[in-house]
Amino acid sequence: MTRTTPPRPLDIAAVFPELAALARTTTRLHPRPGAPAVGESSVGGPLLWPVDEAWPVCEEEHEAHRPVGLEDVRTLRRILTAGWARSCAPGEDFLTPEERETVQRISAGRPAGALAAGPVPLIPVAQLYARDVPDLFCPEGTDLLQVLWCPFDHGDAYVPAVRLRWRRAADVQAVLMDPPRPEVVGSQYYVPAPCVLHPEQVVEYPAGDDLPEELRERIHAWEDQGEDARYQYDLSVAPGWKAGGWAAWWTFTDPWPFPLSCPCGAPVEPLLTLDGAEWDGGSGSWRPVEDTDVPGLPPYPSLNGPTQISIGRGYTLQVYRCTASAEHGAVTHMQ
Ligand SMILES: [Zn+2]
Ligand SMILES: [Zn+2]
Repeated sequence: MTRTTPPRPLDIAAVFPELAALARTTTRLHPRPGAPAVGESSVGGPLLWPVDEAWPVCEEEHEAHRPVGLEDVRTLRRILTAGWARSCAPGEDFLTPEERETVQRISAGRPAGALAAGPVPLIPVAQLYARDVPDLFCPEGTDLLQVLWCPFDHGDAYVPAVRLRWRRAADVQAVLMDPPRPEVVGSQYYVPAPCVLHPEQVVEYPAGDDLPEELRERIHAWEDQGEDARYQYDLSVAPGWKAGGWAAWWTFTDPWPFPLSCPCGAPVEPLLTLDGAEWDGGSGSWRPVEDTDVPGLPPYPSLNGPTQISIGRGYTLQVYRCTASAEHGAVTHMQ
């Protein structure tokens, strides 16, 4: 099923014509639970990885407050999905006593000492074929972006460490069928649930902090006149998983350090945004028309959290690429 973003409540570029020159397209990925194959674009799905290329690992030291087994995460989700899909009498537990015990055991996590020493195999986060994602950046000669991460907190921002791998799909002859996996992960929210994608291109305008100050102030003044639509939430940057477009500079911190740059000094451009929610619960104006509430639909997994990831306290993880060289790796920012 395709996914269709409703038209914006109004054409903001008609109100502020100077915005037209700042319009960018982005591709909303619209991940939804499924069973993607290696030949398909996906979130949390299998990667088209050559059998003769070493699987990437993280060599850093890891700490986790309450690590959780990777297989336990899958078990937990299976039990909750099945439980919520069953009907039960009001007041009755939707889980059997055995399921309840398993859920509590897994949710409690393992002792911090359960972390094995040694390199941690990375886990697949996304695989994007250029043919599916019009706004995907691919360096010359490549047509596939594979995104992996180390599922533990890294650095001052406490986010998973992201690794990018571009390749040409036709170069992959034999595929690695059973890649190494970590025994435990730092958080169940760092394990993306397998999703197929329904890419859709939409138009965005810069977030307030990316606008010239004078224009930003005029837009604020216009909003203060009692407009229902809000520039930040409804008219500028799309929520959810997306490729390209404008960065969303506002959910959590002021844009600092701003502008972001690569350690080499070159500017960076938005490559991919990872988001725990596909639309916000407020106005919800970005909610695809196909994702309507169906009476009796189980609340788990939630309709607008299909990937089951969560960054910080419901923020986004913005992945940028260096404009000087794709070899320079990802610059990430939690926002
Ligand atoms: Zn790591
Ligand atoms: Zn660089």
